[in-house]
Amino acid sequence: MSSATENKHEYAFQAEIKQLLHLLSHSLYQSKDIAIRELISNASDALDKMRYVSLTDEAEREAGPLEITLEGKPEEKTLTIRDTGVGMTREELITNLGTIAHSGSKEFLKAVQQGATAGKPDLSLIGQFGVGFYSAFMIADNVTVRSRSFRETTGHEWRSDGSGTFTVDEAEGLPRGTEIVLHLKEDAKEYADTWKLKEVVRRYSGFVPHPIKIGDEVANSQKPIWVEPKSQVTEEQHTQFYQHLTHHTEETPLWHLHLAADSPIQFRAVLYCPPTNLERLGFGALEHGLSLCAKRVLVQSDCRELVPEYFRFLYGLVDSEDLPLNVSRETLQDNSVVRKIRNALIKSVLDLLTNMAAEKPLDYENFYKNFGGFLKEGVARDYANRERLAKLLRFASSRSEGDDAKTSLDEYLGRMVPDQKNIYYLGGPDLASVRKSPNLEIFRRRGIEVLFLTEPVDEFVMSALGRFAEKTLTSIDSADLDLPGEDARADESKPESHPGGFGRVLDLFRESLGARVQDVRASKRLTDSPCCLVNADGYMSTQMHRLLEMSGKDLPPSSRVLEVNPDSPLIGRLASLSANPDHDAFIRECGLQLWSGAMILEGTLPEPEDLAARMQRFVERAAEGKSPIVV
Ligand code: ADP
Repeated sequence: MSSATENKHEYAFQAEIKQLLHLLSHSLYQSKDIAIRELISNASDALDKMRYVSLTDEAEREAGPLEITLEGKPEEKTLTIRDTGVGMTREELITNLGTIAHSGSKEFLKAVQQGATAGKPDLSLIGQFGVGFYSAFMIADNVTVRSRSFRETTGHEWRSDGSGTFTVDEAEGLPRGTEIVLHLKEDAKEYADTWKLKEVVRRYSGFVPHPIKIGDEVANSQKPIWVEPKSQVTEEQHTQFYQHLTHHTEETPLWHLHLAADSPIQFRAVLYCPPTNLERLGFGALEHGLSLCAKRVLVQSDCRELVPEYFRFLYGLVDSEDLPLNVSRETLQDNSVVRKIRNALIKSVLDLLTNMAAEKPLDYENFYKNFGGFLKEGVARDYANRERLAKLLRFASSRSEGDDAKTSLDEYLGRMVPDQKNIYYLGGPDLASVRKSPNLEIFRRRGIEVLFLTEPVDEFVMSALGRFAEKTLTSIDSADLDLPGEDARADESKPESHPGGFGRVLDLFRESLGARVQDVRASKRLTDSPCCLVNADGYMSTQMHRLLEMSGKDLPPSSRVLEVNPDSPLIGRLASLSANPDHDAFIRECGLQLWSGAMILEGTLPEPEDLAARMQRFVERAAEGKSPIVV
C-alpha cells in the first residue's frame, strides 16, 4: 500500500494496528510510564542482538559502545531515545512498525476490551503482546524513528502522527542504531524532564543489561542478579527482575528459584512462577518463557529446550559459560550441555515444590489451584519423573470436605485399610454428583477412601500412571471389586432371602433393558440406593468412555452392568409385587426408570423422550389418586 511520489513513500497502517493506535492515543487516566518502558525494552533488545552479532560475526567485531541515551528537551517538548543496536532496514521499518498484522495486536485489543467491560482496562499488558512500540502514541502526537541497520550504509526515517498512515524516506548520515523522537502531548510533557526520566528508569528499567544514559549519568545499575550470590539478592530485586523479564509490571512472582552450579556443567539460573495461570484464563497455550544466555549474552529469548513442555508457565533466565555463542535453535536440541541443564532445572523445581508442599501447605495449595494442571500433564508425559510428579498431585476425596483438592497419593496410602491392594477413584462431571454416586456405598461401609476426579484430564492421568507405590489405580465403577474387609450386614438381607421375587425382578429388568446393559444382577456394594451401574470386567471407566466419546473417538458401545440392591425397600416392594403377573409391565417400566436415573447421575441423559413420557405416566396416575401399577 505505497503511494510513492518521488521521495515521499506513504503507507497505511494495518487495520488492527489502526484500531490499536486509536485506543492508545485516547487512553486517559493510564500510567504513561509504560511507553518509556517499552521503548527502552526495544532498544535493549536491539543492543542484545548487536552484542550477539559482534561476538559471532568477524566483520562486526568493532561494535563500539552499546548503550541507550535518553534526551529530553522541555522547551521543545520532545524526548529522544537512542540506541546503538542493530537498527532497522527500510523493509524492517515498514513491516515491524506498521504493516505486519501481529497476532498480538488482536489479542491485546481483546484483552483490553474485556478489561474495559470489567471496569479496568489495563494497557500495561501491552509488552506481553508484541506491540509495545505503539505505546509511543500514548505520550506523543508525532513520532519520528530514524534508523540505520548494521547491514547497510544508508539509513531511513519513519514518521507518523498515528492517525492512519506513516511515511518512510531515506535519511543521510545516520549512525548505526535507532533514534526515536517523540513530540510529547501536552499532558505528557513531563517526560522531557530529566528527573521524571530518571524516576521511570529506576522504577522499570533497573535490570536492562546496558547502560541507560540521561545527561552525563548512567541511570540504571545493569547488575545481572543471577550472577550475584543467592544470599545477596533481595526479594524486591527478584520482583523487579521478574517484572523486567515478563513486562508484568504490577505482579509479584509466586515463588522464585535461584540456582548456581559449577560441575559437571557451569550454569546459573533464576526461575519465576507467575501469580496467575494465563492459560487457564483462556489466553491459549503459553509460549516458553525462559531466556538462554551464553557467557551473559542473550542467545535465545524463548528457549523451548530448557524445560519440558509442562513447565512452560515458568519465566526466567539461564546463563552458562559452557555454551558456545553460536548455538542455534537446531543444535540446541542435541546439545548435551542444554540437556544437563534441563535435567538439573527439572530436579530443582520438583525439589522446591516438594518442600513447599511439606512446609508451606497453604502456599502449595494456592500454587496447585493455579498450576496443578501442568503437573498432571507432566505425569502423563514425562515417564522419567512420573513418580515424583505424581506425589505432587492433589485430589478431593471421600474423606475430605469442601471443593478443594487436598489429598496426596501418599496421604491416601497412609489411610488405607489392612489388606487394601488398590487405590480407588471415581470420575464424574462435578463433585456434587460424584459424592452422590451409589457406587460409593460399599466403600463408605468398609471405611475405604475414594479419590474424586472431576477434571477431564484426571482419568487420563490415572491411566497413564497406572500404579503408585505398588498399588493399582482402580476406578470404583468396575464390575469385580475385590474389596478388603467385610460387611457388617445381617444374613437375612442377603439376596438369597428373596429367592422367588427378587430373581423375578431381575428377569423383568433384563427383559425391558435388553441391549442397553450387558447384564442385570444382584449387588453387594449398595446399602441405600436401589441400583447402580458398573462396567463389565476389563472395560474402561464410565467417565473415560464419556470423555473419549466427547473427543469424537469411535468406540464400541459401553458394556455396563446394572447392579440391583436386594435390601432397598423399593426393590423389596417390587419383589413382592412380582408374585402377580399383572404387575410385570409396571416392573419393566421401573427397570427402565431406575436405569435412566443411574445414567443421569453419571452425567449422561439417555433416551430423554422416553424418560419424560414415562415420568409423565407415573405422575398422571399418582395425581389421579390411582396406583400407577396397572399401566
Ligand atoms: P516487540 O518488541 O514485542 O516485538 P514492538 O511493537 O515493540 O514489538 O516492536 C516491533 C519490532 O520492531 C521489534 O520486534 C523489532 O524487530 C523492531 N524494533 C522496535 N524497536 C526497535 C529498535 N529500537 N531497534 C531495532 N528494532 C526495533
